[in-house]
Amino acid sequence: MKTRLLGMTPDELKAVAEESGLPKYAAGQIAHWLYVKKVRDIDEMTNISKEGRARLSERYVTGVSGYSARQVSSDGTVKYLFPVAASLKKGLCSAAVTDTDIDGIERGAVEAVMIPDRDRATLCVSSQSGCRMGCRFCMTGRQGFHGHLSVADILSQFISVDESNALTNAVFMGMGEPLDNYENVSRAIEVLTADWGFGWSPKRITLSTIGVIPVLKKFLDESRCHLAVSLHNPFSDERLSVMPVEKAWPISDVISLVRQYDFTGQRRVSFEYTMFSGFNDSKRHADALIRMLSGLECRVNLIRFHQIPDFPLVTSPDIVIDNFRDRLNRAGITATVRASRGEDILAACGMLAGRHRAEASE
Ligand code: SF4
Repeated sequence: MKTRLLGMTPDELKAVAEESGLPKYAAGQIAHWLYVKKVRDIDEMTNISKEGRARLSERYVTGVSGYSARQVSSDGTVKYLFPVAASLKKGLCSAAVTDTDIDGIERGAVEAVMIPDRDRATLCVSSQSGCRMGCRFCMTGRQGFHGHLSVADILSQFISVDESNALTNAVFMGMGEPLDNYENVSRAIEVLTADWGFGWSPKRITLSTIGVIPVLKKFLDESRCHLAVSLHNPFSDERLSVMPVEKAWPISDVISLVRQYDFTGQRRVSFEYTMFSGFNDSKRHADALIRMLSGLECRVNLIRFHQIPDFPLVTSPDIVIDNFRDRLNRAGITATVRASRGEDILAACGMLAGRHRAEASE
């Protein structure tokens, strides 16, 4: 069973180098091959001696899995499927899944979506296989939970897509609740933003959550990445009827927490609001949302709902969505209706229904 190098820090790579009989400076070389050159095989690390590469390969692999399927939408959006290994650790929130633990055991596939938009190319990445949050309008939630993605599983999505070197932004809005796998998601963000890693600015990354409060606080304290919160209904009882998380972490508490942080500078917060006809699209809802977000520097993204089987709600008509947006804007809350991208391929797959698409091109 081999361990994956992808996701390791320079200190961890130093230990790997030492153990493999390589000089300590080889750690920097390995990091460069992994995170800058984005190689898929240890044998491509050509400034490491042939014998050194052979010793490394005895115990390690890069961890780049490659995709198993690629579909291109008529609007240029590209969906990728990735095989992921099985996690036997389904239990605890944020339980770490090491790459050694999961090596070699299949547990289905997760997807990533590349969304081109003028001079931007945004990758929407998955953080878990399935999800245990159980939002009723979400196909991923319907699938149940199959395991946390490891750091390598997450970073592999960035490296494996054909557009890897052209990516400008990333959103953690694919399958799974990123704050339910925070240990691995935060390490992936560390690699993405470190000088020794991908070297991205945190401004290029948005994490989307339904509001796992204790972990959200940690994220807000530790990270400078943007935040997106799935709100969907300002009334607790109504939100609870489609989002079980409301019981443990009410949206009013989530917003109280968000208010304690500064979003007037470079870091931004946005709220995702999927429009369901007759459920959350009335003036009463708009006014409650205005009260809830009053004084907070934020943006509201209104999202058309794409119907899923055995769920009774349908999307609001365009005119209702536009009126809802205008009411928010008149009250001083910036609201936009996001264009759906890649509908043909996403609809065919039936995944990422609900919150996952609209904001990605923001
Ligand atoms: Fe999980 Fe997000 Fe789907 Fe809710 S909307 S079930 S948090 S993937």
